[in-house]
Order: sequence, then structure tokens, then C-alpha cells
Amino acid sequence: MIASEILEKRREQMFPKLTQAQIARLEVCGGRVETHAGDVLVEPGERLRSIFIVLAGSLEILLRSTTGEDLLYLLGPGDFSGEMSTLRGSVAFARIRVREGGSVLAVDREKLREVVQTDAELSELFMRAFILRRVALISTGSADVMLLGSQHSADTLRLREFLTRNAYPYINIDLENNTDVQALLDRFHVRLEDVPVVICHGSRIFRNPSNEELADCLGMNPVLDDTIVHDLLIVGAGPAGLAAAVYAASEGLDVRMLETTAPGGQAGTSSRIENYLGFPTGISGQALAGRALSQAQKFGANLSVAASVLRLNCDGRPYRVQLADGHSISASLILIASGAQYRIPQLDNIQRFMGAGIYYAATHLEAKLCQGEEIAIVGGGNSAGQAAVFLASSCQHVHILVRADGLADSMSRYLIRRIEQSPNITLHSRTQLTALEGSDRLERLSWRTQSPNSTPETHEIRHVFLMTGAAPHTQWLQGCVALDDRGFVKTGPDLSAADLAIARWPLPRSPYLLESSVPGVFAAGDARSGSVKRIASAVGEGSMSVQFMHRALRELSVPRITATSASS
Ligand SMILES: Cc1cc2nc3c(=O)[nH]c(=O)nc-3n(C[C@H](O)[C@H](O)[C@H](O)COP(=O)(O)OP(=O)(O)OC[C@H]3O[C@@H](n4cnc5c(N)ncnc54)[C@H](O)[C@@H]3O)c2cc1C
Repeated sequence: MIASEILEKRREQMFPKLTQAQIARLEVCGGRVETHAGDVLVEPGERLRSIFIVLAGSLEILLRSTTGEDLLYLLGPGDFSGEMSTLRGSVAFARIRVREGGSVLAVDREKLREVVQTDAELSELFMRAFILRRVALISTGSADVMLLGSQHSADTLRLREFLTRNAYPYINIDLENNTDVQALLDRFHVRLEDVPVVICHGSRIFRNPSNEELADCLGMNPVLDDTIVHDLLIVGAGPAGLAAAVYAASEGLDVRMLETTAPGGQAGTSSRIENYLGFPTGISGQALAGRALSQAQKFGANLSVAASVLRLNCDGRPYRVQLADGHSISASLILIASGAQYRIPQLDNIQRFMGAGIYYAATHLEAKLCQGEEIAIVGGGNSAGQAAVFLASSCQHVHILVRADGLADSMSRYLIRRIEQSPNITLHSRTQLTALEGSDRLERLSWRTQSPNSTPETHEIRHVFLMTGAAPHTQWLQGCVALDDRGFVKTGPDLSAADLAIARWPLPRSPYLLESSVPGVFAAGDARSGSVKRIASAVGEGSMSVQFMHRALRELSVPRITATSASS
């Protein structure tokens, strides 16, 4: 469908006309500005500070295109400009130019945030319009950024993933499938060997930029004052971090989120989540993340992407985190929501089959998908054993692939016995997965046993369960908070007296549930020791942690009773 058709179909929701009563409510938040034909109110690449409500005259929304400039929409009286980037404080995609002079009401970002937090009717109208406008920009390929790359280049894939997962509209030009490649390369003075190349805002050219360079050029992140002390700094914008941001910001805390890649975390990479409460037909990880981020931003939380935390300095309060780009940021409270990463066998096309034949969990849902079929499980720990025994009851045959000589060192005895007694479970020791094949989904796989002269065997197996364990993203915490023997953050009752003594826990109370060995530093989701590795539990922990944060903040504002003050 072409851009104009999509715009027309959703026109009423994307461009609702404000009534006189609604405009009157907004008038107290903004200032009237006279406009003259030809005035440019916003340039693409400029940081969006306000939305404009047309009172009289008209505004053109213009998008740069390969041929010049396209008119995306004409705003008349009662219409308003703006999109998700206005709330986020990132830069404009489009030029806003006055066609017929008149007047507009300019409402700045802070006032707009107040409106969407306090006026239910306007909140629904603005939020829906902003979200739909972003969706339309992406689905129509209307963008101010061009990525010239090759589908065989890992860096092209990295950049595509970064832009896509951050819901950033871009024009993708695949050099293999574009007949006019040379003309394009000549036009931007780049060579074939320079790809991937990003052309940012129609002029700045980057040869194989890092995610940080790209985010910077596109102005994806809000400009914030790094000298202020935030109430709460959340490291990681997966389900746990986003949930904490929604609750903390809606309860009045000043919240900043820092994220290495894109909102959504591991869940953001899932093509369809079927077991998250409230979505009976399933929802893609990216859609879930997009909704959560809009909600967090509506309440005033700020997110910086391509922002990796290298270190937490917890020696004194406020706490400081050191970022990879050299900046450091302070906050009274920290939430560790940096999650974990499942160990994935090193196979080129493995990501393609995630959720389409490759699974991380063996629940009733997955069991149904492979009922009566042959399956493979990779891993030799207890989770692999439990999955094998469970799936053997409904699958035709279960193959367990382990690198080790056997299971004795990694699995509980009772599970090994059950596996040995199950006629439809075969253990393949010293064996590794070597290839995956299929088109839309996994169709067959190969494995190889480490023995002299062994060759890979190919099997028509369409389902593989990766039970290889997860490694936490907690390297940035080393020396700061107590970790368990696998590197996950210990919290609340899991902290022993010895942990607290080593960490020199300074308070008369014990750590709150979800609080680490350092007061005011909390952990939620997959990075937390003993957590259930599920979206719902990460969301639950992130939300719950905010209750304890309020208590921890109150302690900071109450003067501590010292021996001298108590006796006087
Ligand atoms: C492919 C896949 C499908 C899944 N499907 C389901 C499902 O259907 N249902 C279900 O319940 N669960 C599912 N899970 C599990 C679920 O996604 C996780 O349990 C959940 O995402 C954990 O949330 P989290 O916020 O704790 O951590 P994560 O989702 O891991 O998010 C952590 C975030 O922190 C960021 N980060 C890490 N280190 C740093 C740093 N130093 N600085 C800044 N940022 C950092 C990461 O980039 C990441 O975005 C799936 C997992 C995967 C991988």
C-alpha cells in the first residue's frame, strides 16, 4: 500500500481535529505565534521542542525524498503537528513549513507531557496519533535516513537491526538487488567496499558507523544534563527496566534509562509472545516493547539507546555509572535490569529460526508445537533433563546433545535415571549441533560427534530446544554488589550475613526484597539471582521494585540517628 493510501485509511486517528473546547484547554499551556507563508517552523534533524496546533492558515509536513521533497500532509485549522519523537525529545524527520499564513499555538514538550499525564481525553488523542504517525512512517518507508548495504554483511545486519528494533524509519537499499547501485554510489561518493554506508538527514555520510555514531547522527537520544542527580537510573530497557520506568515515572520519580541496543531486551527479539497476560492472540516482542516505551515516555521517563554502562561506582551516594562514551551519570537509586543472554551455538543462521523451530523454554505451548515429532535438546543441565523428560511424554523421540562425556557432572541423579529409563530419549555425548536448514522455519539439522573420522549426520528434525543456560550481563557490577557463583545479582533474603559483612551493609534494617547488598541499588528480571526467566516475572519484579525504592528514597531524606544525636 502506498503512503497516501495508508494515511487516508487511518487519517481520522492519525490526524484528529481538535475541538474548540480542546484547543481552549491547550491554550493555557502554549503561546500563540503568527505565521507567514514560507516560514519554516521545523527543519529535519532539528530537535523537536514543541508541537504546533493550527489556529488559522495551514502547515505543510514535508519529507525529504530521493527526488526532492514530498508533501506528507497538509495541516489545517484544528490539526496539530508532532510524533513520538516530540515526547522523546529526539530530532524531527520532517520539515514543517507554513503554506497559508495565520497563527499556531506552540505547546512545548514539557507542557505536552503534563497534558498527556493529566488530561485523559487529550492524552488518548495525542498518544494514539503520535504512535500511528510513527507506524505509518515505518510502513511507508518515509525516512530521512538511507542505509546502503549488503545482505551478506554482518555490519549491515547490525545496523538494520539497530534501526528496526528502535522503530526508526529508514530507506534500505540492498546493493545486490538494486540495479541502479552505481548511480547511487556515485551520487554519494562512496565505493562498493565502503558498505554499509548510512546517509543521515540527506547529507552526512557514515561508512560502517557504530551504533553510537548512528544514534548520535540521528539525534535519537534526548539531550539531558549529565550534571543533575536523577532519582532513578535504570540500566537495561528490557521488560524489567521498562516496567520499572512506567511505575517509577508515573509515581513522580525522575527516571533515566540507559540501554546498549534497543528497548525490549531479549523479549524484543521474539517474533511472537503467546504467554504474556492480556494478549490472547500473541504479540511480537517489538510491539510489546514499543507500547511499553511510549507508556514510560508519556509519564516522563527518558531513554538513551546505544548507551552502554561500563561500571557502577557505588562507593558513595549519589551513585555514578560510567558509560562507554566517557560520560558519567548520577542517581540516588539504581535498578540493575541488564538481563542475561542465552548461550547460543555459533551457527550463522540460528537467529533466523528463533521461535520458528528453536526455543528456549519447554512449556505446554512448545510441547503442543512438536507433538508426535522428533526433537533435539542441546544442553546437559537440569533444565535440559527436565525438558527431555517432559517432552518425551508427547514427542515421538527426544535426542539430547551434550559436549561432555555424559550427564553425571551436570545433571541431578534422578533426572539421569529417568532419561535412562525412557525408551524414546537418546543421549548423544561429545556431540555438537553443526548446521540448521530451512526456509521460513527450521526443517532439518545436522550434528557431529567428536570422534576420529566422524562426519555430520543430518536429521529431519524441526524443533530444537536450547537449554544451554544464560549468562548475566553483570560485568559492569564487578566489585560493587554481591553476585552468586554464576554472576547473577543476589537480593533481599538471598543475601547471607557474610555477603552483607563483605559489602559493609551500613543500615540497621536488612535489604528489601529485590535490593542488592548495596542500599538503594535494586535488581529485577533475568539479571537477578533466582529469577524466573520469563517476561511476566521480569515485568512483575520491575514494577514491584518501585515500592521499595520509595522507602529507600525516604531513608535518604530522613536524617540518620547517630549515637550522639540520639543521646542529646
Ligand atoms: C528469543 C527469545 C524468546 C523469548 N520468548 C519468551 C516468551 O515467549 N515468553 C516469556 O515469558 N519469555 C520469553 N523469553 C524470555 C524473556 O524474554 C526474558 O525472560 C525477559 O526478556 C527478561 O527481561 P529483563 O528485562 O530482565 O532482561 P532482558 O530482556 O535481557 O533485557 C536486558 C536489557 O539490558 C541491556 N543491557 C545489558 N547490559 C547493559 C549495559 N551494561 N548497559 C546498558 N544496557 C545493558 C540489554 O541490551 C537488554 O536490552 C524469550 C527470550 C528470548 C531470547
